[in-house]
Amino acid sequence: MSDRVYIFDTTLRDGEQSPGCSMTVPEKLRMARKLVELGVDILEAGFPIASEGDFEAVAAVSREFPWAQVAALARCCTLDVERAAKSLAHARRPRIHTFIATSPIHLKYKLKKSQEQVLDEAVAAVELARRHVDDVEFSAEDGARTEPDFLEKISKAVVAAGARTVNIPDTVGYSTPKEYGALIGQVARALGDCAIVSVHCHDDLGLAVANSLAAIEAGARQVECTINGIGERAGNCSLEEIVMILKTRSDSYPYHTGIHAEHLFSASELLSSIITFGPQPNKAIVGRNAFAHEAGIHQDGYLKEKTTYEIIDPHSVGVPEGRLVLGKHSGRHALNQRCKELGFTLTREELDELYHRFTAVADHRKKGLMDEEIVALLHEGQRALQAAAD
Ligand code: MN
Repeated sequence: MSDRVYIFDTTLRDGEQSPGCSMTVPEKLRMARKLVELGVDILEAGFPIASEGDFEAVAAVSREFPWAQVAALARCCTLDVERAAKSLAHARRPRIHTFIATSPIHLKYKLKKSQEQVLDEAVAAVELARRHVDDVEFSAEDGARTEPDFLEKISKAVVAAGARTVNIPDTVGYSTPKEYGALIGQVARALGDCAIVSVHCHDDLGLAVANSLAAIEAGARQVECTINGIGERAGNCSLEEIVMILKTRSDSYPYHTGIHAEHLFSASELLSSIITFGPQPNKAIVGRNAFAHEAGIHQDGYLKEKTTYEIIDPHSVGVPEGRLVLGKHSGRHALNQRCKELGFTLTREELDELYHRFTAVADHRKKGLMDEEIVALLHEGQRALQAAAD
């Protein structure tokens, strides 16, 4: 089995449909340009039947980036599939992504349909989609809570009908790595080389990335994810996290993606500037504090050798500089280093004087000190030393 993992980005679809994340067509185009630059394999641009805006977004992304693999979402019904096909008219590598729920709870309460009906509708939608495009993906919505044998049965049926990718989502973020890995393994073994198994995990229990990783080990070769992990409720698997796990821990995970990691930070920043919120400060890879060191012992070690406390070179993900936050936990070494960066070479005496003044202020601060404040303290200290000498 190939070690290439395809990155299916759904920032513009699952991400966009969550609160505070709506994007206009021009905004989706700006984001799509960045995602193409980042090297995502498949770009899901919208759910064309849902709104005119979604239809137009898929059409616009297809026109603007004709060689990108663009996906449009559709329920398993004629109207949806036809609308998705139409929105993809200008794409050179169009993908129709059709889905229907398969779990007992969704069948009973939401669809009020039997497994046979759902299977027939899935097969019919895939056949119809294949009349429009070569590349069809089928998703078994709420797959993680579906009986494994029915999941296997419907997966085989849609592949026989022409689907090339079978996605088994953990729609409600309920699964665990061990359980999900076993389920994905069963489907992957059943399909063999006939289709790519995909995963789409939600983060309701904070396990979206861990579940996606377990799925890759079990044979999944497409991961659906979003920039900053945005998406329905607690969000989707974070693109930057899954990509950097595979890169950083290639010793344990011998797989690779086509992502140009140096664009990860700018992709995150661009998304934050378009939607209403950014990642939390302590978010892995792209958070403001992801490469910041404040504790004195950490700063001292980091300055002697970065790898003592840093497992990823910030430049490799496009973060301009590893940041030392100068706060009450900082030591002399970091303070001296910051002064050097600011253009001041300090004597031992000056450093001691500055350190004394610095800790007195930093003790009462939740946030670290700004560079200007440090320079002001330095000058204050130098004046005091001068006065003492006079
Ligand atoms: Mn989803």
